[in-house]
Amino acid sequence: MEQNTINSTEILEKINKANKLTLKNFSNTISLERAIFLSWWCDKGDCKFCYMSTQKNKISDPKKARRRVNNILAEAEMCKRLGWNIEFLSGGYKSFTTSEIKSIASNIYNITGEGVWLNTGITDQLEEYGKEVKGITGAVETANPILQKEICPSKPLNDISNMLDKAGDLGFKKAITIILGLGETFEDINYLIQYLKEHDIDRVIFYSLNPHPETVYVNSSQPASLYYAKVVSTIRLNFPKIEIICGTWVDNLANIGILILSGANGITKFPLFKMFGTKYGKRVEEEVQWTGRKLKGTFTNKDKLGSEKSQYNKDFNPYIKRYIKDSLKNKYK
Ligand code: SF4
Repeated sequence: MEQNTINSTEILEKINKANKLTLKNFSNTISLERAIFLSWWCDKGDCKFCYMSTQKNKISDPKKARRRVNNILAEAEMCKRLGWNIEFLSGGYKSFTTSEIKSIASNIYNITGEGVWLNTGITDQLEEYGKEVKGITGAVETANPILQKEICPSKPLNDISNMLDKAGDLGFKKAITIILGLGETFEDINYLIQYLKEHDIDRVIFYSLNPHPETVYVNSSQPASLYYAKVVSTIRLNFPKIEIICGTWVDNLANIGILILSGANGITKFPLFKMFGTKYGKRVEEEVQWTGRKLKGTFTNKDKLGSEKSQYNKDFNPYIKRYIKDSLKNKYK
């Protein structure tokens, strides 16, 4: 990819400048972000990279693919105990109604004391939400609008953009998600820069492609670490104050350090309870430590798991108990 145009000195300089700029404008702390899933069902189910697109035909009763609300809320309580931020509530289309999402968000607000971000699809019902929702995420997915149409045929970019603009008018913060490795090139970053400006985006969440079985990407490679770093540092240099979250899967933990130096404020996309207390959890903490930053929250401190009893609702207890048990089990031995 782009072999003849790669200038390694330029990339290192960008990272260096981006690091300085991030340290100037933000605290020294890196957050661990946890997306809380609401359901395994998505009524659209046709985005070409998405795990949910492989499940649609296997789910006969969408209602059964929904997670139990007490389980979702218990997860939020565990996030609070461990100092993990809730990246957003995320669910496929038509898995929960607006009033159900509002009720879940309100309950999370009562637990964490903070409004949650939503990533629950294109909607024209944003007026329903209040202080329990901090911001709205548009799942743009790729920085190339032609590719976006092909990859996400049922999520027109215009509809996402209109929703984000309306979210801004209503006083919500605005975020977008971008997956790197879907077929874009570095030049597409110009479109992304323009998009972030035009829609006055507060937060951009990058992921690297996770090639799921049964999707067209199954044999695709994940983006190179320095490509990812170049994209992130370019965004940081163009937007000194935007919040940048970077996702990387367990098989790419070595990306974390360089992505933080490139401008990331938070990291995401880990199986947090599975990795907790294991060599992988320790590795995440060490990746952060070697950037000279502090990690908000813990991936290793077992005392923070707390009691098997919920502080908020006894109906969460069975789920809390299970999260603690899962966190104490070393699944990587
Ligand atoms: S709309 Fe979202 S959940 Fe549904 S298939 Fe597309 S990416 Fe997956």
